[in-house]
Amino acid sequence: MIFENTFKKFLEVKELFKSLVNDDKSVEDLFKILEKSQREIKVYLPLKKENGEIEIFEGFRIQHNNFLGPYKGGIRYFSEVNEDEIKTLAFLMTIKCALVGVPLGGAKGGIRVDPKNLSEKELESLSREYVRKIYDFIGPNKDIPAPDVNTNTKIIDWMIDEYLKISDSKDIKLKATFTGKSVKNDGSEGREEATGKGGEIILERFIKKMNLQKPLTVAVQGFGNVGYNLAKFLYQKGYKLIALSDSKGGIYSQEGFSPELVMECKKEKGMISGCYCVGSICDSRLGSDISNEELLELDVDILIPSALENIINKKNADKVKAKIILEMANNPLTEEADEILNKKGVAIIPDILANSGGVTVSYFEMLQNLNNEKWSKEKIFEELEKYLSKAFDEVWEIKEKLNIDLRKASFILAIKRIYKKYNL
Ligand code: NAD
Repeated sequence: MIFENTFKKFLEVKELFKSLVNDDKSVEDLFKILEKSQREIKVYLPLKKENGEIEIFEGFRIQHNNFLGPYKGGIRYFSEVNEDEIKTLAFLMTIKCALVGVPLGGAKGGIRVDPKNLSEKELESLSREYVRKIYDFIGPNKDIPAPDVNTNTKIIDWMIDEYLKISDSKDIKLKATFTGKSVKNDGSEGREEATGKGGEIILERFIKKMNLQKPLTVAVQGFGNVGYNLAKFLYQKGYKLIALSDSKGGIYSQEGFSPELVMECKKEKGMISGCYCVGSICDSRLGSDISNEELLELDVDILIPSALENIINKKNADKVKAKIILEMANNPLTEEADEILNKKGVAIIPDILANSGGVTVSYFEMLQNLNNEKWSKEKIFEELEKYLSKAFDEVWEIKEKLNIDLRKASFILAIKRIYKKYNL
């Protein structure tokens, strides 16, 4: 269902693209091919729990398309992971890689698990079992997984360790099988911050094109890797972060928050709710608690969904008052919400463009591993800026020329690159 709806948005550019390349037949064929994943892997992962019980978890790796290069995409751990969702995200990775101009295809993986219910030892065993099950299908020339929701450098380090053990090889290049490793384990500088940094680069470019003046007010839903890092970069650039939230709820203050202080508090308390209190004194001038639903409906300049998909849908889209939505989560808007918000004149900066910083730096991590190099964070961010600015400018040009929205323009740029390769 999610895939169908996401693909429907993509199908909207088919006729337009046909008219651009003047070749109906091969465009029809290509869209038909892209509607299916090239390979869908489902695995069952037995885990012996510390209490001696065996529990079986379901895992997926879906390889959508590799016309432009090896498959690439994150692995998420989440209690509601399902095939349809992973397929959708794999498709979006194909589009994202093409859009940003890296020679990679699209994939996604996941395990249906709530990692909070497992001990660290159990989590490690499960992660290693997943690698054993998908081993034959991954590698630097085949498919390169990375972290996503609820997975991090620690998990990726276990995964690459398991992969190298099975490979029984000393070839350093094999480290490029996974990206998002810790820096001491040949990961890249800046990878953890990359998606947030990318969001900042894209937003800054957008603001400039629109001639908007700061301070602009911002609400960020989701205070994990992406949401926190982006908030940190935006704060440094003078945006006013008036609302932040995580899965347990949010905080609001017209004065604005410092993300780093909020993160310190979250680490202490385990949530950001109440993080406007100083000691035991909660001064309402410093802030108040708000729910995730309220956060989405705030009157802000920029709303940034950075948690999960479909959180803006036909039930709440009408209530959104933000002027700009920067989609840092993948697929945060349903098809209906997209339509409602477009009609309302909200500027939507689509996920495939806004959150492409992560995969771009993952690509840099691969290059470093394959060429046995180590790039500084400055070089990483410089290169990232080059890639994303180029992608943004190309999308903007298409948008202006064809008078379409940014999502459609992004689709056009991506499909242009895939089509070129397909038609070789
Ligand atoms: P994460 O696990 O680090 O953080 C997710 C955050 O969202 C957490 O703070 C969690 O508490 C919060 N959250 C979960 N459910 C929520 C809810 N219902 N309401 C509000 N907050 C909620 O994950 P992440 O890596 O930051 O990924 C976030 C999103 O960004 C996902 O959609 C992911 O696919 C996308 N993304 C991530 C990357 C990356 O490099 N990590 C790259 C591109 C896209």
